[in-house]
Amino acid sequence: MTLITSWVESANSADTDFPLNNLPYGVFSTDALEPRCGVAIGDMVLDVAALEEAGLITLSEDAVFDVPYWNDVMELGPDAWEALRARLVSMLSNGSADQAEVTPFLIAMDGVRLHMPLVVSEYTDFYAGRNHATNVGTMFRGAENALPPNWLHIPIGYNGRASTVVVSGTDITRPWGQLKAPDAEVPRFAPCRRLDIELEIGAIVGTSTDMGDRITVGQADKMIFGYVLLNDWSARDIQAWEYQPLGPFQAKAFATSISPWIVTRAALEPFRTSTPEREKDLLPYLREPGPMLYDIDLSVIMQPEGGKQEVIARTNYNEMYYSAAQQLTHHASSGCAMNAGDLLGSGTISGPEKSQRGSLLELSWGGKEPMTLSSGETRTFIEDGDTMILTGHAKGEGYRIGFGACEGTILPATPDNFDA
Ligand code: MN
Repeated sequence: MTLITSWVESANSADTDFPLNNLPYGVFSTDALEPRCGVAIGDMVLDVAALEEAGLITLSEDAVFDVPYWNDVMELGPDAWEALRARLVSMLSNGSADQAEVTPFLIAMDGVRLHMPLVVSEYTDFYAGRNHATNVGTMFRGAENALPPNWLHIPIGYNGRASTVVVSGTDITRPWGQLKAPDAEVPRFAPCRRLDIELEIGAIVGTSTDMGDRITVGQADKMIFGYVLLNDWSARDIQAWEYQPLGPFQAKAFATSISPWIVTRAALEPFRTSTPEREKDLLPYLREPGPMLYDIDLSVIMQPEGGKQEVIARTNYNEMYYSAAQQLTHHASSGCAMNAGDLLGSGTISGPEKSQRGSLLELSWGGKEPMTLSSGETRTFIEDGDTMILTGHAKGEGYRIGFGACEGTILPATPDNFDA
């Protein structure tokens, strides 16, 4: 696949995250414009709400872009998604007859504010990276019991909180919780001291299923509207005390950040790749009809307050053991209804090497092996004032499909207010 050239010059640069091949969907506002749907192209945002109002894009009888979310477009279904992409490619391609009419609807990206691109219906997080599960299991339960007995058969997940999914750039306040040191008799309630990230990809479900419906992996794949970068902020000390027997709860509930642009399944199509060979055969309902993962390079960047950005890990989405389509199939397998706007976290993406680990828990091996930054500072977990940034892109010939950044800065815990 090669670059599709655009009359928007900045979209033809090999370095842009947003060439014409990408066309990711976000929600933006300016001093003059209320939050509305937009499409990233090079260093510009295309105001599709205004294009719709001007009659240059029509997806349905009712307006679908003049709202601060893409859920209405999702609910129109895959044929409409395809029609929208085809229309956008046609109007933005080099030599398009629409250039003069469309030009007034482009706004410089550095002049807009980005918002949550969707209303998250529900959020489910999985645990589908084998290297991550093995590392964490080894730390928490020992090498002998690293992978739980169900892990090679089920994409393990838990129901998370949609209420605290926030867009990149939102500050994250250090959470309070129950902490219990191994040698302490009872827990105490205090600010988290082992605050962490999880590098993940979020899949956005674009069509719904009814209660009682089951779906194949092939059907599930077609239900996915697009993907975002996802940081599943994690309080490891809260998690270690609370997680048995029902899994994480408050350790994960305080915040999840996503990147502001939904990269569509269509844009990622040329980068499909397969899940790894199975150590144990999967049950038939989880078998994939074709390649369901994507080759997406991912980085974790840390920036201490007042310091410079530093890459602390690099890995790839192709390290997952289960794909988003398999996770969605499993999620619906009991008859659980899935909704447009459902967000599925992949699980932490770690490669086999130490430099490829997608969490500080793994990078510092439970805090035992501090990382040294180029400034000489060391880190085991995240300090107040640190900014954590995830980036990702799939590499084509002379272009890349980028996600933009998913970042958040940690603010100090709120003061103690439990004196009463
Ligand atoms: Mn997670």
